[in-house]
Amino acid sequence: MADLPPLREVIARHGLSASKALGQNFLFDEQLLERIAAIPGDLAGRQVLEVGPGPGGLTRALLRAGARVTAIEMDKRCLPALAELGEAFPGQLRVVEGDALKLDHAGLMGGEPFAVLSNLPYNVGTALFVRWLGGEAWPPLWTSLTLMFQQEVAQRIVAQPGTSAYGRLAVLAQWRAQAKLAMKVHRSAFTPPPKVMSAIVHVEPDAMPAGVSARMLERLTEAAFGQRRKMLRQSLKGVPGAVDALEVVGIDPQRRAETVTVTEFANLARVLTRPSS
Ligand code: SAM
Repeated sequence: MADLPPLREVIARHGLSASKALGQNFLFDEQLLERIAAIPGDLAGRQVLEVGPGPGGLTRALLRAGARVTAIEMDKRCLPALAELGEAFPGQLRVVEGDALKLDHAGLMGGEPFAVLSNLPYNVGTALFVRWLGGEAWPPLWTSLTLMFQQEVAQRIVAQPGTSAYGRLAVLAQWRAQAKLAMKVHRSAFTPPPKVMSAIVHVEPDAMPAGVSARMLERLTEAAFGQRRKMLRQSLKGVPGAVDALEVVGIDPQRRAETVTVTEFANLARVLTRPSS
């Protein structure tokens, strides 16, 4: 196993002061990083996509677990530290400089299945999450997503019906995948500490309900949760056929979006999905 210098020393030697603009909050606790890298299960020999490696704390843990890591980082200052890490684990690390929001991840991974692990700034993490879980093609090439979020966002992803946290993100994450809150991470674990608590969400793809268009489901949840305090017969008026479809699938039009289960949303979308769409 490669003997690596402490992360704080790496940061100091490469002058990696945390940039607020890039949402940099680093993790240094190697035991914590090891526990995060273990969330997706045994990574030995597996392909991993890590977005935002920064100075490489999580990257080290992934490499030590035997993963073959592709890491996308947009901060050039981190590249020399990551190159050193690559030398310590020959043939295991590939670093791609760029904005993860603009790159084709499946293409980058050569069409091979991959696990995703990432500790990203909140806005980038949510945008990527929506992208990874969206689209008509399913199952995806990724085998799991293990992502750090603000705790409040993590709770929205795993929320159940009947709670105020339940909304579009929960339906998106749960209608054809299993999403669970894998670990809470205290703000003091980061340098510098962010204002709020964080949590790691772990998502694995599930079978896609037959005959349901992702686009139609998205349209329905956007309308329903866009006016979450209104009854469905009102909030779904803008989606042609949706109010009539409520009766077909046995959903009382007087209910509100918050009470509709993920399965009920999928059933509703199925009735409105034309075979060709
Ligand atoms: N993974 C490291 C850790 O846990 O200590 C760093 C985490 S820090 C919260 C987020 C990292 O993501 C930073 O290194 C930042 O430069 C990088 N980053 C931010 N936006 C990015 C983007 N759009 N594409 C790729 N990397 C990005």
